[in-house]
Amino acid sequence: MFIYNLDLPEIEKTLITWGEPSYRALQIWQGLYQNFHNSASQFSNLPKSLREKMTLELGFSGMEPVRFLDSSDGQTRKTLFKLHDDHLVETVLMRYNKRRTLCISTQVGCAMGCVFCATGQMGFKRNLTSGEIVAQVMYYARLLQAEGQAVTNIVVMGMGEPFHNYDNTMAASDRFNNSEGFNFGARRFTISTVGLVPMIKRFSNEKRQVNLAISLHAADDDLRLSMMPVNKRYNIDELLDACREYVEKTGRRITFEWALINGVNDTPEQARKLGMRLKGLLCHVNAIPLNPTKGYEGKSTTHERAIKFKEILEKAGVPCTIRIRRGIDIQAGCGQLAGRSF
Ligand code: SAH
Ligand code: SF4
Repeated sequence: MFIYNLDLPEIEKTLITWGEPSYRALQIWQGLYQNFHNSASQFSNLPKSLREKMTLELGFSGMEPVRFLDSSDGQTRKTLFKLHDDHLVETVLMRYNKRRTLCISTQVGCAMGCVFCATGQMGFKRNLTSGEIVAQVMYYARLLQAEGQAVTNIVVMGMGEPFHNYDNTMAASDRFNNSEGFNFGARRFTISTVGLVPMIKRFSNEKRQVNLAISLHAADDDLRLSMMPVNKRYNIDELLDACREYVEKTGRRITFEWALINGVNDTPEQARKLGMRLKGLLCHVNAIPLNPTKGYEGKSTTHERAIKFKEILEKAGVPCTIRIRRGIDIQAGCGQLAGRSF
């Protein structure tokens, strides 16, 4: 059993079946989530016999870092992990001033097929387990700890659609949040979804402190459908209704993501339509120039067009930031992760 798949009570149960005292569970938990051990031999506070049993029964090796790439400015690192069944996923660390933000994956590939996204272009292979989601963070936590630093933010914006793997994503979120372990504040955790309406509703009802971002990318159904097949299932009206409900139920601001594509969705017309649709909603638009991918012809917006887009939105009362692109030279930008060997 991959050790990161277990919650504290499950570790306790396992120990009891081994005839070990249950207080050892917390020692293991803290070893994993406070000291970031990644082999049984590092648990020096446990008896040797227990460490040997852990080595035999609780695997640490379900997620092997096989390669990493650093961007030319040294601020972004992408790590390729090999899973037990040889599938590959990628996780990105972005350093920005004092921030150390991790962009983590929840699936191998993605079933949602957004045309501009490299993960979508590769199709869906399988869900990650909660442990495989957690292990990405612990890997980087260990790496940063060695530099006297720590993970400050986590965004679920890597490979896959988190709301298509809801239970495992939330289990991972809860494990990060556990106050006896990693104790990572939910407010520093952001989940981005393509817009699976029933899951947004479920998420709203659970009233988590986690931030929510919605990949919108178009302000009318025809355009959105041409970019994102999911719009056939849940159109923009349904999606925005679910978003309004989220804001009402949680009192939290919602973020809309918008990959600016030249002449497609960076036009004044799209900005005006978006402004009208979002007016009065507690929200924020995160616009990012499109990152290039092999399977999509569209081009990135220009600086001037992006600024114009932002101005129109803000005139309509909708706050908008234009994010800088990160890690493009190592294919680590939004939508560029494809779990390929590099
Ligand atoms: N599946 C989730 C999270 C992963 S994608 C989602 O779609 O929201 C993270 C963000 O990157 C999403 O907003 C997605 O639409 C965006 N994205 C995908 N491909 C992109 C590209 N080529 N350039 C810029 N952003 C892209
Ligand atoms: Fe999947 Fe998100 Fe990429 Fe769309 S943008 S294909 S939902 S990972």
